[in-house]
Amino acid sequence: MYIGLSGGIGSGKSTVAKILSELGAVVIDADAIAKEVLETGQVGYENVIHNFGDSVLDPTGNIDRKKLAELVFQDETKLAKLESIVHPAVVSRVTQIRESLPDSAIVVYDTPLLIEKGLQDQFDTVLIVLADLESRRERLLSRGLLLKDIDARIANQATDEQRKAVADVLIVNDGTMQELKENVTNVWQQLSA
Ligand code: ADP
Repeated sequence: MYIGLSGGIGSGKSTVAKILSELGAVVIDADAIAKEVLETGQVGYENVIHNFGDSVLDPTGNIDRKKLAELVFQDETKLAKLESIVHPAVVSRVTQIRESLPDSAIVVYDTPLLIEKGLQDQFDTVLIVLADLESRRERLLSRGLLLKDIDARIANQATDEQRKAVADVLIVNDGTMQELKENVTNVWQQLSA
């Protein structure tokens, strides 16, 4: 079974992924894979240098993701180029991971960009984590983010309405951590039944 998991920043998506992993799901972290494919020796590495030059490297020869982000920020052509390098590399790595797993595995693809990238049809089930704006702000503030950055990032992401429109299962994370665990455990029991 292949499950897509998403939610806006601060909703608790990563926490849900962790709980599902503890319950027995195989979680594939899309952000981690997108980083991995740009590591030295990986498929995206040479391609990025070829297209963006040595200036995106740090002194040790690794891709400096911050420099790369600055380079493509507000330049749609460069951003599209970077995506055309990263996207196929991620797809191929995810396919490789999935092929290495037994058919019985319950695989959760954890991605913040499920809606933005229109991935919903790939999955047997789409799980969406929702939380009210105040809880999200509070959680992210206590993680050290600034309110203006939090609100800018939330404004840049899909809306709750867009998320609800693609969700097969909604996990509302407005309560305590204990409530979230119970909620996710119930969802897991239904999925793995
Ligand atoms: P996301 O991946 O959606 O950005 P996280 O799962 O990283 O969100 O959660 C953001 C922060 O909020 C983390 O520090 C997490 O421990 C905390 N958090 C998540 N859910 C709850 C909750 N129900 N109660 C209290 N803190 C929570």
